[in-house]
Amino acid sequence: MTFYQVDQLFASISNQFISFSWTYSIVIDYFYASMTLPIAPQVCSSTPENGSTVSLLYNIAFNSSTDISLPNESDPWLTFLHYSGIDSYDDRIIFTAGLCLTNIILFYGTNLIFYIMYWYDMLPQYRINGGKMPSSELTWDCLKETAIGNFISQPIFAYLLGYPLLITWVGMPIRAPLPSLRVWVRDWLIAFVLNDTLFYWIHRLLHHPLLYKHIHKHHHMFHTPIGISASYATMLESLTAGLIPTITGCCLMKSHYLLFVCFIGWKIIEGIELHSGYAFPYSPFTFTPYPVTERHDFHHSHNTGCYGGWFWDWVCGTDKTFIEFKKSKNIKSIVGA
Ligand SMILES: [Zn+2]
Ligand SMILES: [Zn+2]
Repeated sequence: MTFYQVDQLFASISNQFISFSWTYSIVIDYFYASMTLPIAPQVCSSTPENGSTVSLLYNIAFNSSTDISLPNESDPWLTFLHYSGIDSYDDRIIFTAGLCLTNIILFYGTNLIFYIMYWYDMLPQYRINGGKMPSSELTWDCLKETAIGNFISQPIFAYLLGYPLLITWVGMPIRAPLPSLRVWVRDWLIAFVLNDTLFYWIHRLLHHPLLYKHIHKHHHMFHTPIGISASYATMLESLTAGLIPTITGCCLMKSHYLLFVCFIGWKIIEGIELHSGYAFPYSPFTFTPYPVTERHDFHHSHNTGCYGGWFWDWVCGTDKTFIEFKKSKNIKSIVGA
């Protein structure tokens, strides 16, 4: 049995186990919440635990006098949580729903924009692969696989593993006021640098012959990448080259939950643009003095070098083949090529 088959088997077994555990824990949560409802609310001084639909309805029906207490009006995050009613839900629900909805909206929204651009061949001057598209079989397979990941696996992982890891163990705050601008910039820069570094070295390691065909080859089925192929990866690759680099900086800094979600959202759009086949000159998501989108497109089409954004490839000289390729094509308009 190959590593790839073991990975698939592991994914299938763990998905079964996780879906059972998830369903079980939700049933227990709601059973517990309903058990804590007082039989006679008007003579009971306590309220049911926050965190369930039951308690939300209870507060609206019986406890409106205490529910009008407002959060710190000067903090937009706490005010948003309060007026939207989200703060009546359990932290675990807020964490999972916020993360997964952000992922789903940005993934499908950004890819829809790119599909419209592919369909009508818009902005052809920025297309870097001559308008080539992958086979429809591969595209459909990718759509199915990413849908399972976005709608099933990721919510389950976020609920069962992400919440205890990031909120309970790391201590990432959800209901705290937003940090200052200085903290936003500091945490964002640290998360960005660590993501760039970890992604480069883990991705390069996944190209080792012992690991490549078992873990990373799946992602390289796309020789001509398109937006949705950003998430086309085995479970082991998603964990090692995707999740670990993306969350490490925010975990180390115990960043605010909203900052963490924004950083994840940024990485989702950046990943889609890197695979889109479009290289825009001043994109806010992929802009560097070096052509990072062209580099990753080259990585897919030639399967050599260009393992990261540009910094570590420049330091380690793993972008030499790309630079020679650009010179051979006599393209001089791009810095770094
Ligand atoms: Zn690769
Ligand atoms: Zn890729």
